Amino acid sequence: TKLIIPRAEHSISRSQLSPNGVKVLYKLRDHGFTAYLVGGGVRDLLLGREPKDFDVVTDATPTQLKKLFRNCRLIGRRFRLAHLHFHDEIIEVATFRAGADSNAAEADDDAENELPEQPVAPEAPSDAALDPALDDLGTRHGRDGRQLLGGPRMLKSEDGMVLRDNVFGTPEEDAVRRDFTVNALFYNIADFSIIDHVGGMEDLKNGMIRTIGDPLVRFTEDPVRMIRAVRFAAMLGFNVESRTEAAIGELCASINKATPPRLYEEVLKLLMMGAGERTYQMLRHYGLFEPLFPHFDAWLSRESDCYPHVRVGKALEWIDERIGAGGQVSAPLLIALMFGEYLEEKVSGFREEGFAPQPATDAALADFAAELCATVAIPNRVLIAVREIISCQLRFQKTPGRNARGVVIRHVFPDALAYLRFLEQLNPPKRPLADWWQRFAEEQAAPQQPAATPAS
Ligand code: ATP
Ligand code: MG
Repeated sequence: TKLIIPRAEHSISRSQLSPNGVKVLYKLRDHGFTAYLVGGGVRDLLLGREPKDFDVVTDATPTQLKKLFRNCRLIGRRFRLAHLHFHDEIIEVATFRAGADSNAAEADDDAENELPEQPVAPEAPSDAALDPALDDLGTRHGRDGRQLLGGPRMLKSEDGMVLRDNVFGTPEEDAVRRDFTVNALFYNIADFSIIDHVGGMEDLKNGMIRTIGDPLVRFTEDPVRMIRAVRFAAMLGFNVESRTEAAIGELCASINKATPPRLYEEVLKLLMMGAGERTYQMLRHYGLFEPLFPHFDAWLSRESDCYPHVRVGKALEWIDERIGAGGQVSAPLLIALMFGEYLEEKVSGFREEGFAPQPATDAALADFAAELCATVAIPNRVLIAVREIISCQLRFQKTPGRNARGVVIRHVFPDALAYLRFLEQLNPPKRPLADWWQRFAEEQAAPQQPAATPAS
């Protein structure tokens, strides 16, 4: 079932797209390719929200894209995508792809996998490069984009690298391999219509997050989709469709089949979108929190001194407020705030065992890292910054103390101060220290009085 919603019957206009996005779509169209805007961009425009980024899908292959756009970099080892670099934005362009196999390749398109940049040929692209019926291997495609010669599903690039997931497909195949119906709508630059292969328009109207196809199958293929369901439901204020919801209930424990670095990225995205508190509650509600943070979860369910651990929720609300007000929250600050009480308890534990303050903090962080490495792998550089944020709190107690200037010029100072502010807001002290440190930092940063310049 393919639904086409003509321009007159939907709200997306070209003026809402980024000018670069429009340029890319037109250029592809003018060279005879099919080009659609897809994913979160279409979804958010239809909802009247500002899209975070503009993703394009096309029947042009990566090699053709490379020849067509001088600002193009191919990234991803398993699935090659094109990143078109503009002054202040990157437009991601992917070739239509069939995807019975794992979409986990999505996580593959990070900078670490960026291919060494090849020099861009300055001369005009060859005809072959611009013939939409020719793919990377020069194989002819049928009108529907399938390889005509029944070529192998396993594709190899020029340098013999196996591009396992680089199986080009039809637009419809590309739509149905996506995660949720509302994420699979195409905006067609050729006639400004919306193409809906999956019932996404209906779900968008009804505020529904629904997997494309059988949710049990789709969540087994890629468990990260369960977290994404929570993310979109929380972000858009949508409901999770009942079969999709039931499948999460059934499969939540398998979330850990996704790799720990990928889970870190997804969880971070989830908590950083300004609805962290709601998301945290939803993760717990859906049984996803426990497998992600087993030790922390066990600690949360134990009261301390007959008090439940309310600080986590308060910390997430504080973060949400800050993000809502247009502020920034770094990954280390987020983690320090969310796990602060838990970490402080660990530090106290080591202190009681006779550790000095700094070694106790180090040990607490090492312990925390070890607990999480099998589930949500927080990168080392982030853990180091979290440790600094926590250590600074002790130093803040002395005003000014020795070498106070050394404290405020530290990289981590703004985050450490934000952490202190949160604590002081939670339990207003008799003598607030955050204001003192803020003022001190501003004085230090103020330009020195210019010394009188000696006459030459
Ligand atoms: P955001 O606004 O947060 O960027 P998004 O919908 O654009 O949301 P992305 O992670 O940027 O999400 O992914 C872009 C598109 O790629 C999605 O809309 C979806 O169609 C597809 N996609 C992403 N991750 C998956 C996945 N794990 N499985 C299937 N399809 C996916
Ligand atoms: Mg996106």
